[in-house]
Amino acid sequence: MVHPANKKISQPGSQLRGHVARKRFGQNFLVSTAIIQEIVDAIAPRAGETVVEIGPGLGALTEPLLARIDHLQVVEIDRDLIARLRQRWPAERLTVHEGDALDFDFSALKRAGPLKIVGNLPYNISSPLLFHLSESATVVHDMHFMLQKEVVDRMVAEPGSSDFGRLSVMLQYHYHMECLFTVPPDAFEPPPKVMSAIVRLIPRDKKKVGADGTAQSADNETAKDEALFARIVAAAFGQRRKMLRNTLRSFIDEAGLTALGISPTARAEELGVGDYVRLANALKNAPTPQPQT
Ligand code: SAM
Repeated sequence: MVHPANKKISQPGSQLRGHVARKRFGQNFLVSTAIIQEIVDAIAPRAGETVVEIGPGLGALTEPLLARIDHLQVVEIDRDLIARLRQRWPAERLTVHEGDALDFDFSALKRAGPLKIVGNLPYNISSPLLFHLSESATVVHDMHFMLQKEVVDRMVAEPGSSDFGRLSVMLQYHYHMECLFTVPPDAFEPPPKVMSAIVRLIPRDKKKVGADGTAQSADNETAKDEALFARIVAAAFGQRRKMLRNTLRSFIDEAGLTALGISPTARAEELGVGDYVRLANALKNAPTPQPQT
């Protein structure tokens, strides 16, 4: 049986219409109509929604998205591809933001409602891009991305597993995530060397509403100081084989860890997201321990 990914877009001559894929921009273009259909069905864009595509490339996802909605925002870095996109669709249908998605202010696009952000992401910048997008999590409705399967495995990993790391904690803090399906290399041109996967990210509602109707935060859900939380997670996983009493020495001493119910001999991957939030919140106003001589 022919795998659905092998159903490719039929184009006379090159599948890439004369474009030469640029490695430095992580260009692996989707050419499987079946996979493209499956991705757009998962995204399920609806009229009136503000949809943003990162890295539209030759328009493999852009075209079917524009078949379902009137207007799309895209962020693309490759000037040749930008020229093609502008030629193919008028500005009323497609707004092309020329530049690096890593510097792009996604929150500036929120108009009437929250954003749907999508893309077959350049794999060479996927982790920094996911961290950058987390800064705009409050203006996002949902995000659907194609990524290296290995990265998706790390994103959705559970505590205790070897895949569970800084990326898992930081993204799970902001989002509920689900790996929807995997995509084989032959769905792309040129084919990447690795398996890919589609992941859905939905921002967690970190604010709880109290009995009196006012917004409240559960202690183990919202970090009062997200920068401190991020620093603690980075320190813990910076040397993931070491015990927390060593990696977190500049933040908290052994007695402090024990008082929080955290074993000083545990390693970073043994703590859940809630534990890191609890640690950060306990340390928010605590004096920094003096270095031991
Ligand atoms: N969406 C197309 C598809 O599925 O066939 C192309 C996907 S290709 C994996 C990644 C796309 O992201 C390319 O169009 C590439 O030029 C673009 N890109 C690479 N780095 C970028 C960056 N830093 N900011 C914005 N776009 C970028």
